[in-house]
Amino acid sequence: MRPETRAIHTGQSVDPNTGAIVSPIHLSSTFERDLDGAYSKGHLYSRYTNPNRKSLEDCLADLEGGVAAAAFSSGSAAMMTLLQTLLPGDHVIAPDILYFGIMELMKKVFVPMGIRFDFIDMRSLDQVEQYISSETKLIIVETPSNPQLTVTDIKAVVEIAHAHDIQVAVDNTIATPILQQPLALGADYVLHATTKYIAGHSDVLGGAIVTQVEDERWERLVYIQKMGGAVPSPFECWLTLRGIQTMSYRVRAMTDHAKQIVSFLQGHPQVESVLYPGIPESVGYEVASRQMSDYGILMSFLVRGDAQQAIDVTNRLGLITRATSFGGTHSLIEHRYSVEAEGTKTPQNLLRLSIGLEHVDDLIEDLSQALG
Ligand code: PLP
Repeated sequence: MRPETRAIHTGQSVDPNTGAIVSPIHLSSTFERDLDGAYSKGHLYSRYTNPNRKSLEDCLADLEGGVAAAAFSSGSAAMMTLLQTLLPGDHVIAPDILYFGIMELMKKVFVPMGIRFDFIDMRSLDQVEQYISSETKLIIVETPSNPQLTVTDIKAVVEIAHAHDIQVAVDNTIATPILQQPLALGADYVLHATTKYIAGHSDVLGGAIVTQVEDERWERLVYIQKMGGAVPSPFECWLTLRGIQTMSYRVRAMTDHAKQIVSFLQGHPQVESVLYPGIPESVGYEVASRQMSDYGILMSFLVRGDAQQAIDVTNRLGLITRATSFGGTHSLIEHRYSVEAEGTKTPQNLLRLSIGLEHVDDLIEDLSQALG
């Protein structure tokens, strides 16, 4: 079955008790034991498993082509749990351009715990090879990356990593499982902030990790998920799964809008450049064309001028909202330099633009009047 169909049916079935087409929300935190003490219906306590979480995890695993998924209360909690599978002395290679909150988590939480990180330009495969040591246990890839939309060659990084017995985790949040399938390219784990395109309506936080095989690290990760409990509530799982049902259609429509907006911005005299993997002249275009089925929705652009001139553009917008995040039905814009940590590589005149599901002509009109 195609992804559109699996998104509606995997992990979801007619409720046997009531005939309800849409799954009920199981708020119960605990479940009845059988007479012999077993839990034959599969659930014991909601920190361990919950019917709504199980549905979500099954659907996500299927959509990413993995064997299992673990859902978390946010994308950051998903990454935190993956990093918690490491031990003091372990080394991780991560991109120098990745979601700044995750970079902060690595630097401020995991470095003091004895994990070592190198943040490198992952477009250079030579650099990947060069930074590998006998302590390297994990390579994190984020492609396209937030907020500069740089593209990493997943297959090539996996080949290098696996030759050294190192695992690769790909943050697929920006591409979505509809446009990019990292496990099929050999990655060991796929990570998502389901907060974004997967849930898709800016109304629920969530994260997930999908695995290629249920290996030792996966067992440890699921153990930490259960014992630590950074899990989404049943309602959050239900909302996320509802969002998944329309994901393919949202992603395709939004990608179409994004391309039209990229063309508009490229032709505008107040725009210095546009960062988007689908621009043929861009560095990442060739790799993106190979590993993505389309170029996605998120983009950034550099306004001609300084930070204040970029902020002024956001202040003149009427329809596109000044807010962080991306992936929902509302179009959002953000001056990333203002919100990222000191030492960020984000240019001061960069605006990240998240295209929603408004009519594309209305969005272009709004950008046109704001850019002047
Ligand atoms: N990964 C990427 C690429 C992101 O952009 C974000 C958040 O913006 C996250 C992970 C973290 O997700 P969350 O905000 O749900 O913790």
